[in-house]
Amino acid sequence: MSNVQIELTGVDKHYGQFHALKDINLSIEKGTFVALVGPSGCGKSTLLRSLAGLETITGGTMKIAGEVMNDVPPRKRDVAMVFQSYALYPHMRVAENLTYSLRLKGTPKEQALAAAEEVARTTGLSHLLGRFPRELSGGQRQRVAMGRAIIRHPKAFLFDEPLSNLDAALRVHMRKEIRALHDRLGATSVYVTHDQVEAMTMADRVVVMRDGVIEQEGAPLELYDKPASRFVAGFIGSPAMNFVPAMISEDGQAVLLDLPDAPRLPIGRALEPGRRVSAGLRPEHLTVTNAETAALRLPVGVVESTGSMTYISSGTDPEITVVIHGRSPLSAGEVMGLTIAPENVHLFDVESERVI
Ligand code: ATP
Repeated sequence: MSNVQIELTGVDKHYGQFHALKDINLSIEKGTFVALVGPSGCGKSTLLRSLAGLETITGGTMKIAGEVMNDVPPRKRDVAMVFQSYALYPHMRVAENLTYSLRLKGTPKEQALAAAEEVARTTGLSHLLGRFPRELSGGQRQRVAMGRAIIRHPKAFLFDEPLSNLDAALRVHMRKEIRALHDRLGATSVYVTHDQVEAMTMADRVVVMRDGVIEQEGAPLELYDKPASRFVAGFIGSPAMNFVPAMISEDGQAVLLDLPDAPRLPIGRALEPGRRVSAGLRPEHLTVTNAETAALRLPVGVVESTGSMTYISSGTDPEITVVIHGRSPLSAGEVMGLTIAPENVHLFDVESERVI
């Protein structure tokens, strides 16, 4: 039996003339936590809403648990959506919010209540069953929203930026809680977020979208280590990768950066001499070293320290950002020497922006 729980083949979505999803092909295995990320307007919510049946796709096939869902109404899809707004019924207590969907289906009251108590135990809501939503904290409301989804035993959980209304500390806590629940339930989850850290830390697979297209799909660290395009390289990783226009050296073994003195960085392989490229250098892969001998020497512009980390930006164009642990040995106006291992120099084609 196939282990695929969600399968999208050639999915298209047009809003009138606007092409919001373009030939989306994606296979999600049962038990997997998938994050959809990408800049605003890239189509991630449209894709999630199409899975839920809240949007009708205009081409391709969408299967859930082996069944074609293209024309199946939302209620019959057996998926549960969790929104950032929680969408709780304000006039109902937690217990009633949890049991609402079961009561709609005609589940007897006693049985629905027993299910609510069980879900409340799973989500840590047992002591709050008698409260109204307005009497709950943001995190507790989010748990009720989760509980409402869990009680239906759906074939998939669909999350639309569920944590964006919470403060930073609670977000970090809730993302662990949601992931733990996913594991405990053996669920299949699709999670839309703007926040690449959330995507990287929660998901088994990350799907990076841009302008209605899947740019790359893979395990979080695969995307970080081997970005397929300049776009993915710039999107995954924080602070973002530095990009510098550059040219392959005469012997083909190094890249010459378009910075003062044309610094030369070995690339650990041979490429066509003279080829124009974009060099990608992650801030955390640059190491500060002796400014006298380093190949890459840059003026120190701004130094920002958070205590544990220091961000140093060069005063150059393009600007290069370096991240170091602890305090900075340098201050503005000095010269920093930098090194980077050849395997950490990412190169992208100038035209196609694909990795070389
Ligand atoms: P965000 O992170 O801002 O929510 P998103 O990646 O979720 O963005 P979508 O909401 O999926 O983006 O929207 C994708 C594109 O489709 C956007 O350009 C948006 O303007 C367009 N769009 C969404 N809904 C409609 C609609 N009902 N009619 C026309 N265009 C729409």
